[in-house]
Amino acid sequence: MAIQGLCPKCGKRVLHVNVENTVGVVEGNSKARCLCFTCIHCNTVLGVQIDQRSKPRPRKKDDVPG
Ligand SMILES: [Zn+2]
Repeated sequence: MAIQGLCPKCGKRVLHVNVENTVGVVEGNSKARCLCFTCIHCNTVLGVQIDQRSKPRPRKKDDVPG
């Protein structure tokens, strides 16, 4: 299947994307690892999603946050 997607900024076909690790923040607290997809030509963010590969942080009663 040919790739038809175009970058909304530079208009080039999105044959490749940079994948960057980023962190989802909810009300100032880091909540989840996310993946950020950016255009390799102009670095425009094309999308962000939760990193499904990452495991949630272990929730122990004695786990001190920070
Ligand atoms: Zn672009």
